[in-house]
Amino acid sequence: MGLNLLLLLSNSLVLVGILILLGSLLTVRRILRSFPEGRSHKGWFTMGCLISLFVLGYLAYVNIFWEKHTQATDLIVPGVFFFGACFVLLSTFLSLNTALDIIRICELEKESSTDPLTGVYNRRHMEKCLQEEIAKAQRYKFDLSLLLIDLDNFKLINDQHGHQVGDQVLTDISALVLQELRSFDVMARYGGEEFLVIAPNTGPGYAHILAERLRKRIEMHHFFVGSKALKIKLTISIGVSSYGGSITTQESLVLRADNNLYLAKGQGRNKVIADQSKYPLQV
Ligand code: GH3
Ligand code: MG
Ligand code: MG
Repeated sequence: MGLNLLLLLSNSLVLVGILILLGSLLTVRRILRSFPEGRSHKGWFTMGCLISLFVLGYLAYVNIFWEKHTQATDLIVPGVFFFGACFVLLSTFLSLNTALDIIRICELEKESSTDPLTGVYNRRHMEKCLQEEIAKAQRYKFDLSLLLIDLDNFKLINDQHGHQVGDQVLTDISALVLQELRSFDVMARYGGEEFLVIAPNTGPGYAHILAERLRKRIEMHHFFVGSKALKIKLTISIGVSSYGGSITTQESLVLRADNNLYLAKGQGRNKVIADQSKYPLQV
């Protein structure tokens, strides 16, 4: 191999290696920007610093050995530099792609389990959670209650103020109810203007208290919607059911809550009817 070609090759390998390392630095910067928080943030910052040190090392090597390579074996170190840089670029690039894929999967999972209007869980996710909670109640003899919440005369809100205002009220109610719940309670939009709360570790007594608290909270609230000039009052009715006795399945729990809700509506609305054995299950 001619001397000129040898010099050209060895210097090119190191210089291209530097460019590849700079490309890796850009990838690391993107990772740091895409994930501003988290446990590995410091790790990636350290990675960026190390790659920068590598770049300085490569530059120092070029500076010292420029035109000093005379034999084929002198290509070994530039070759190692070049493939080392490729390795760094590939590692950072694959890490970035994997992290973005994980974010996309989490977003899709969230989308498939939440209601787009109110941000609470959707019915599909609720059914999954309820199945799990029933299994726990069966296995560990835990208490479990359901609260089926229905907005009273909600159609009137839509008719009087428009669908958009109705949507805003639904969103506000979800937020209000969520504020009253514990972190392990699950709230889902069950239907148009119906919400369902799964209250694990909650027997009929406390479920009744919780439902009353929710009812009062909504009753006292003034909904300011649109340009905040519109003040709306609204009430809710709640049917409560609790796991136990003949009520041990998802269907019977929901049916009992639905029956109790129906009774609450029949008794003039703005009412809570809790699970009581005197109400026979109507199928
Ligand atoms: P009740 O006290 O008997 O429950 O009366 P209601 O008017 O609340 O019940 P009804 O079933 O007659 O009407 C429900 C209304 O809820 C009608 C429907 O347009 C409205 N609704 C359902 N989903 C949505 C929604 O996503 N946005 C809005 N704005 N309205 C909705
Ligand atoms: Mg309804
Ligand atoms: Mg209603």
